[in-house]
This record gives sequence, C-alpha cells and structure tokens, in this order.
Amino acid sequence: MNKKAINIAIDGYSSCGKSSIAKEISRNFNMIYVDSGAMYRAITLFCLEKNIINDKKFDESKVVELLNQIEIKYNYNINANISEIFLNGVNVENKIRSKKVSQFVSKISQIHEVRKKLIKIQKDISLNKNVVMDGRDIATKVMPNADLKFFITADVKIRAKRRYDELKTSDKSLTFSEVLYNLNERDNDDVNREINPLIKSKDAIVIDNTSLNFAQQNELIFNYIHNVTT
Ligand code: C5P
Repeated sequence: MNKKAINIAIDGYSSCGKSSIAKEISRNFNMIYVDSGAMYRAITLFCLEKNIINDKKFDESKVVELLNQIEIKYNYNINANISEIFLNGVNVENKIRSKKVSQFVSKISQIHEVRKKLIKIQKDISLNKNVVMDGRDIATKVMPNADLKFFITADVKIRAKRRYDELKTSDKSLTFSEVLYNLNERDNDDVNREINPLIKSKDAIVIDNTSLNFAQQNELIFNYIHNVTT
C-alpha cells in the first residue's frame, strides 16, 4: 500500500451489504473499518433509554439538549474483524441492532445537531489513516476527498430477504413484511431528509449486487482498490 493514507467511502441503501463489503476490504487491505450507522444507532439507543423518544413522543429539543451528555467511542479490532461501539463507556454493539433502534434511527439522523456531532467524530477518525467507512453521506460529506467512492444498491425485496434471514434466529417474532416495511421507511427517510440526504456522489462507482454473490462483488470491488493502492 502507498505511504499516503487511503480513504474509501461506501454509501448506499439500508441492508445492501455495505458493512460486509467494508469489513472484507478492511481485512484484505489492512484498513480501519468505521460503521457510521452504528453511531447514529447509539444516539438513538441513548434517547430510547432516557425515554426522550418512544412510540408516542419525539422530543427533538430534548435530544439536542442532552447531546453533550453522549460520548461515542468506536473501536475496530482488525484481527477479530469486530467493531465495538461504546456509548458513555458501555459496549452497546448488540443493543444498537434492536428492532426499536431500527425503527427510530432514521428520525434521529435527521436532526442537524446530531449529524454535526457525528460527522466531526467520523472526519477525525478518517484523518491521515487508512479508513474504509460505510454510511449514507460518507462520499458527499464525511470524506469528500476519498480515493474511492462506492454506491451500493440492490432490489429492496432481495435486501429485505437477506436481512430477515440474518435476524430471524435472534428474533423469532420478526416477520419478513416487518423487515421490508422498515427498509422502505428508512430508505424513504434517508433519501428525502433535508440535511445530507442519501444521494450518489457524482464520482461514485455504482455496484448493484441484486444478482451478484459475495465473492463476485468482492472481486469487482477489489479490482478498483488494487488500482489505487498499487
Ligand atoms: O447503516 P445502518 O443501517 O446501521 O444505519 C442506520 C441509520 O443511520 C440509517 O438508516 C440512516 O438513517 C442513519 N445513517 C445516516 N448517515 C450515515 C449512516 C447512517 O443518516 N452516515
């Protein structure tokens, strides 16, 4: 790998395999993997636990007021290929994947102050380091000068099926239609929000993995990376 630090941005719709690709890149090219969505999820978890948000209320001003009580730390263990997100010193990597967090995270991520806080953390992590980061605004806002930018997409029903298969063993009450509904809702919120919506950066390479298996997708992506790292 060159001496200059390499930044790779991966954006795209919910559950299209961004994190799996990013982890694979991280392992193969010895880069730090950053899951930016985990940070939005951690703030959402905090708000749920403090009961600032629930099915009946969404107190945006309280969320903003309490933001300075939230400390987010992100560690990626490259050898174990495990990411761990800490919310005020507590590892919440499992808790942030709950149905409830998924239900509210896109609303929390629409709040300007939340984005400002997290984008600062994400920019700081990526500075002068070999980083692969996935999210929704990585190529456009967090790492606009990234060496490579990928925009990942796939048919929504295929994405929902993959997600459902992944979650059904840990959550027996989950149904396919619930997962599909949540993905559509999140995509819709992410694409239509006022600040930093999910859009394809002009210079991003589009990867539609609807009919690609993981190995085929990796081969495609790795070829692009070899071109910038050798
Ligand atoms: O990547 P993941 O699906 O875990 O992200 C959860 C949510 O966090 C997304 O649906 C989106 O609303 C928000 N997000 C965001 N910007 C990012 C990463 C995630 O708005 N860079």
